[in-house]
Amino acid sequence: MTAEFDIIDDYFNWKQTSRRVRVGIGDDAAVLMLNHNAGQELIVSVDTLVEGVHFPIGTDAHAIGHKALAVNLSDLAAMGADPAWFTLALSLPEPDLDWLQQFSLGLRQLAEQYGIVLIGGDTTCAPLSITLQVMGFAPLGKAVLRATAKSQDKIYVTGTLGDAAIGLALIQQQLDKTSLSTEACDFFQKALDYPQPQCTLSTLIRSYASSCLDISDGLLQDLTHILNASHVGAQLNLEHIPLSAMALTLGYQQALPFALSGGDDYQLLLTISPEKEPLLLKAMEAMGGKITCIGQINAQSNTLTDALGHPISRAGFQHFKT
Ligand code: ADP
Ligand code: MG
Repeated sequence: MTAEFDIIDDYFNWKQTSRRVRVGIGDDAAVLMLNHNAGQELIVSVDTLVEGVHFPIGTDAHAIGHKALAVNLSDLAAMGADPAWFTLALSLPEPDLDWLQQFSLGLRQLAEQYGIVLIGGDTTCAPLSITLQVMGFAPLGKAVLRATAKSQDKIYVTGTLGDAAIGLALIQQQLDKTSLSTEACDFFQKALDYPQPQCTLSTLIRSYASSCLDISDGLLQDLTHILNASHVGAQLNLEHIPLSAMALTLGYQQALPFALSGGDDYQLLLTISPEKEPLLLKAMEAMGGKITCIGQINAQSNTLTDALGHPISRAGFQHFKT
């Protein structure tokens, strides 16, 4: 069956030219030129969340509201953009007032945290689905793309990986809940339901990163997007992939695949030149944020190897893939 990215390429990525579109289809967000005096570019991204696909049926409405905005803010952060506005297209099977109250609270709390303003939308009666479009700004020419990683750049990730995917595996009973403490189950569930977009890092990203994206579909698959777009390869130190203390309670061997191929992390994956690397590390230290070097970019186009040079197979989440 045709996978998500083939569908986009085959049917929607037709040749278009516009002076005002600096980056169109293929990155975390589009980069659109305003008038030249503005000194800024408009950054736009849209994401849909569907019940049973992007969040399990029965997910708390407050968490759905949070996550719908978080995943979109994450795309802006990955571009090095600051949030400005969003629209909300909501399809609801019935007007459940308690659900709406909780959903709107989750959405509003995150919107207020990052100062993004809801400016419009659309409400329809249909199976539950939430589409948010976010708009933000980056200084002219400073948005960080996927296509600009260079050989010798270091590869970094923020935070820890795999916790949300473990949360999903617990819900789907692929992992046995009974072997874990209640505290551990709550931690993984929270990682799945309440991803934290890395908005506070947007200035650092645009100051230092040579390329960036947010990890939504698994580290390996998302890194591949940077490799394809930049025509480079990567060598990863798998033992440096950051796992949370809670994930490590499962054992390293069991936790690592979740970090490599599980989805829903919404951490940032970025590349940085060796010259700028110390500046980034200093700035991150001052902010108290966690960032880990997991490998290096090389010139061997679209190859992905481990520290010993052995190929790493890449699997992540793709819609329509069998
Ligand atoms: P992300 O995971 O960062 O949200 P996606 O993987 O969903 O991005 O999409 C990859 C790229 O393809 C993005 O630039 C997105 O805007 C574009 N895209 C996805 N679906 C469509 C579509 N139906 N029409 C045009 N562009 C699309
Ligand atoms: Mg993205």
